[in-house]
Amino acid sequence: MPSGRIFSMRAIERYDSKAVEEEVRAFWKEKRIPQGLAEHRKGAKKYFLLDGPPYVNGTPHVGHVKTTACKDVWTRFKYMQGYDTYIQPGFDCHGLPVEVVVQKELGVRTKQDIDAMGIDRFDDACLQKILNNEKAWMDYYLQLGAWRAYFEPYFTYKKYYMESAWWTAKALHEKGFLVEGETPTFWCAHCETVLSGYEVSDSYKDLTDPSLYVKFKVKGAKNEYLVAWTTTPWTLISNVALFVHPKETYVKARVGEETYIMAKARLDAVLRGILETDFEIIEEFPGERLSGMEYEPLFDVPAQKSLGDKAHRVYLSIHIMKFKRYKKHKLTNSDEEEYEEFVTMADGSGIVHCAPGHGASDHYVGKHYGLPAVSPVDEQGCFTSKAGNELKGKFVKAADKEIIERLKDEGKLLHLGKVTHAYPLCWRCKNPLIYRLTKQWYFKIDEIKEKMLDASEGVKWMPSFGKEAFGNWLEQSGDWCISRQRYWAIPLPIWVCPKCGRKEVIGSVAELREKAEKDPGELDDLHRHTVDSIKLKCVTCGGSMERVKDVFDVWYDSGISPWASLGYPFRNKELFESMFPVDLINESQDQIRGWFYTLFFAGMAAHGKPAFKNVAMMGWVVDEKGEKMSKSLGNVIPAKEGIEKVGADAIRLYYCWEIAPWDVQKFSMHSASEVQKALNILWNSFAFFRMYAPNGFRASAPSPETPEDRWILSRLNTLAREVPAHVENFEFHHAGRKLMRFIVDDYSRWYVKLTRDRASDEQCANAMYKCLVETTKMLAPFCPFITEYLYGQLKQYGDEREESVHYCLYPKPDESRIDGNLEERMDVAMRVAEAVNSLRREQNIKLRWPVRAVIVTGDERVAKAVHELQSVLINSLNSVSVTYSDTEPGLPFKEFDGGKAFLDPKRDEELLNQALFRELVRAIQASRKQNGFNVSERISLSLHAAGKPAFFLQECLEDLKEEVGAKGVVLVPTEAEMKGDFSVELKFEDALVKAKYSR
Ligand SMILES: [Zn+2]
Ligand SMILES: [Zn+2]
Repeated sequence: MPSGRIFSMRAIERYDSKAVEEEVRAFWKEKRIPQGLAEHRKGAKKYFLLDGPPYVNGTPHVGHVKTTACKDVWTRFKYMQGYDTYIQPGFDCHGLPVEVVVQKELGVRTKQDIDAMGIDRFDDACLQKILNNEKAWMDYYLQLGAWRAYFEPYFTYKKYYMESAWWTAKALHEKGFLVEGETPTFWCAHCETVLSGYEVSDSYKDLTDPSLYVKFKVKGAKNEYLVAWTTTPWTLISNVALFVHPKETYVKARVGEETYIMAKARLDAVLRGILETDFEIIEEFPGERLSGMEYEPLFDVPAQKSLGDKAHRVYLSIHIMKFKRYKKHKLTNSDEEEYEEFVTMADGSGIVHCAPGHGASDHYVGKHYGLPAVSPVDEQGCFTSKAGNELKGKFVKAADKEIIERLKDEGKLLHLGKVTHAYPLCWRCKNPLIYRLTKQWYFKIDEIKEKMLDASEGVKWMPSFGKEAFGNWLEQSGDWCISRQRYWAIPLPIWVCPKCGRKEVIGSVAELREKAEKDPGELDDLHRHTVDSIKLKCVTCGGSMERVKDVFDVWYDSGISPWASLGYPFRNKELFESMFPVDLINESQDQIRGWFYTLFFAGMAAHGKPAFKNVAMMGWVVDEKGEKMSKSLGNVIPAKEGIEKVGADAIRLYYCWEIAPWDVQKFSMHSASEVQKALNILWNSFAFFRMYAPNGFRASAPSPETPEDRWILSRLNTLAREVPAHVENFEFHHAGRKLMRFIVDDYSRWYVKLTRDRASDEQCANAMYKCLVETTKMLAPFCPFITEYLYGQLKQYGDEREESVHYCLYPKPDESRIDGNLEERMDVAMRVAEAVNSLRREQNIKLRWPVRAVIVTGDERVAKAVHELQSVLINSLNSVSVTYSDTEPGLPFKEFDGGKAFLDPKRDEELLNQALFRELVRAIQASRKQNGFNVSERISLSLHAAGKPAFFLQECLEDLKEEVGAKGVVLVPTEAEMKGDFSVELKFEDALVKAKYSR
């Protein structure tokens, strides 16, 4: 027999979210509820929800709450479906975001400074930085009630993780994915590292740059010049060729003493519009005639020397592929948009300056013609001596001015203006990026792109548009540049022999120790400060192999998280193999180009499988006005503040109620507190049940007889049918809204009102208990605290045996209880009630005053509803009669969906008396409550009234006794004869009733 002791939580009278949440957290801790999850589902199928590791740099705000809440809903829901949910939080620890902060804090500006202070000290400072932040996250998970708060996180900086990364790199190398290449790449001169395309795609900003028309002297011709246009003067130092369009018409135009060659289509715009000069066309010809024409190098610098016979000539523009198309996954664009022309007539002079060392397109056309590529720029973005002694050591963009001056002095500058265009910035330090030629390591994407696209077809994307967006991104993605020239990251496990060029990719610590020249010892850490100095013996030539100095792109770290988080294959081998692919990931939409992509590639390349089966994609959370939350705008609401204000349960449910999870959500504290009110209604519904349930009530299966009982149980089972289906499809907002609607509208505002008079009857209590228990379970994944508390309380009345609501199985519908017709009819009854209530307000007739008649007209459904639910309508409308009619009476009415409700507002004496009686009951009850009487306390009541009301009251003393909970009621002829400690006075229409009562 259960007693109050099963539930060890402190009793809480009124709903106080903070008290409830604290109490439940203490209960979970004491009873080790989270730790008991796995034991409870022993032998059940695992469900692998992989935590996309947040970057530990920074603290969570209300936007993170949405992601965390949704992930936790999945975790709990899947567990309640019977799976053994695998739960592990994770943290992304490496990379530039931490390094940039640490550099700032230490006052270390350049990479040379870091080398000077020692990589070990720098790495250690980075580690300390993230260790502190991780605590804030775990604490936040705890506050929000996320299960992950109770489990050991994975960290990308741990040895097991890094060793798994090495294993993956070796596997990919053996499968031929790992290659080295020299191409111009985006480079941050401040961070001194390469950045890859998707790190750049989001961080463009409008910048103003110089816009130059430059004269290239034609070799062997007097005063004849090719006119080219550029907005990056510093790249002119690396000019190798000029390009024209073969099919466009070009001209030689005389301006004063000089002859300019340029496109005819640009002639007016440039010469008249910009240079404001007259000209005379002396010759016209197609662009292809310029092919091979030689010109003199613009600058006398070492970089321009010995470039071979191909350099400093005119070439013909070719198509550059913008997107690579695949047969099955056509984009909607037309074919022409697949390519862009290197030379266009949209701007400039129709002659394009080409520096293959400093641009992706330039590099592409340069390769096509076999042109040399020069890039006399060092890691800090400064010119090397190859750019000449005057420019050496100067930052390229800062050198623009000097280069322009020199062109002016040498008479090569035709015009100088300004242009504002979108320019890429470093996503971390916000400095402008430059294109620079470097040697980097890549994963080849092309070879498995087709397979990746096919595999993506089998993934369930929620919402479904994710599939197309992902496909589009995959199609145009190039090889993945994975090397970075930084410190706090996973070192590339690649060793190279300086003598013979032999390469070794190391896949484990054991392998490294075996191949090392000298035993490196235990190797507890695999960061640069430990592995950089390890040399391997070259088996080809006996030389001493050195590690390449590069580290991995931090996106590689998270891309391998499904297995690296488990330390695979060195630990948890079986566990990983039994769980992979991941069942579900749930992150924001921008991860299509980030994590979803790197995960997918890594899974396909390393294991031949897509990394995940289901993706739920979140939309952004912005502030109430629709602005992105950012530090600079000062509109960031910390997660802690949101949780504290409305409670964890309410803020969680708010995100699963207001809007579809994938839509942009304007966070509103006001709306979130509306949700809290609804939870209050749930709480009060339980309090009402507890107060009115029969003494010693033990719940049994309801066998409903009244239409309202049958209806509420039908609604409950419909809910149990619909809610899980919505959750499965990530329609959390539908699930949340339907749960709220059931609690607030169906149960509290309708069912409880209809059954007020029979709340203590066994059948009604059974129905109420069933509704409360099942709703609590259904709501548990969304609001883990209040549901845990209520479940613990409800257990005392029934057969529920689980220690925690979260151990329960999710309710399944009992289809035999669902009665669609009844639900439809009750829906009509609710609409009629709404119409009548609004009529009563208009007519100033309170709901507790009975009315003579309500007449309803309308369609067939309305007729059926009135006919079948007459008792419900009479009860809820407080009308002596409720009838359906084919003709409209001449009475006040209100329309509702499907018909009209008419109210007879006339009140005869009998109705007035009944109203007086109701008012008197209300006044006495209110006074009892005010004076601290509890419901079961009996009172002695004496009344006095004069005239007609006295006669009426005499008739109904017995009823009154019953209604107000009195042991005795007397009607006395004079005021003086009234006895009692508390008085009540009621004026109603013309009547005056006085009363006194005491215990
Ligand atoms: Zn940077
Ligand atoms: Zn060698």
